[in-house]
Amino acid sequence: MATPSAWTDIEEEFFRCSICLEIYKDPKLLPCLHRYCKECLERIIVGLTDIRCPLCQDETKIPVEGVDGYKTDFHMNGLLQFIHLQKSAGNKEMRECIGCTSHSEVSAYCFKCRDFLCEKCHTIHLTNRTLADHKKKVLALKDFKAHNLKPSDLSTLTEAPRCHQHLDQASVICCVTCGNLPICMVCGTMGQHRDHEVYDVKL
Ligand SMILES: [Zn+2]
Ligand SMILES: [Zn+2]
Ligand SMILES: [Zn+2]
Ligand SMILES: [Zn+2]
Ligand SMILES: [Zn+2]
Ligand SMILES: [Zn+2]
Repeated sequence: MATPSAWTDIEEEFFRCSICLEIYKDPKLLPCLHRYCKECLERIIVGLTDIRCPLCQDETKIPVEGVDGYKTDFHMNGLLQFIHLQKSAGNKEMRECIGCTSHSEVSAYCFKCRDFLCEKCHTIHLTNRTLADHKKKVLALKDFKAHNLKPSDLSTLTEAPRCHQHLDQASVICCVTCGNLPICMVCGTMGQHRDHEVYDVKL
């Protein structure tokens, strides 16, 4: 029988859509900042003009564009990519601490190292000055609240999404006209998207 592990907890709570109970596919954010798969939202809004968030019961008007009118959760998409990488590394190595390669229980995930840390290395991560830029990127497994995590919290943990045209530029805005495409400030103000409807990714 499988024992509960840090990994399972993350997967269960954090990356699972509460409508289909699967790992998010193309997560969209409702105005209440709860996220669901695009497909799931498409299924539940059929024939409706208002949507009630299954998690918080917040009721809002469905955008005229339908589900496409909701913001894409790029930060969650970024996380899902990390997790995909993690999974491909195989189950056993996945839960090994990257700091000391011990098999003791992991207690945190560092988004900078892109790997798990044991209690001891977690502490080192938080106190060692040479690892100062990791400090803000460490997610303690015990205190994350899956459904309460806001995109702004995630943005401090994950690398920012990139402009689809300039991969060296962080995407700070999103072009609604082009189907919620992540773009940089230059593209949004001077480039081909300057007359398009855009919104701030950071919310
Ligand atoms: Zn779903
Ligand atoms: Zn909600
Ligand atoms: Zn360790
Ligand atoms: Zn680290
Ligand atoms: Zn750009
Ligand atoms: Zn555009």
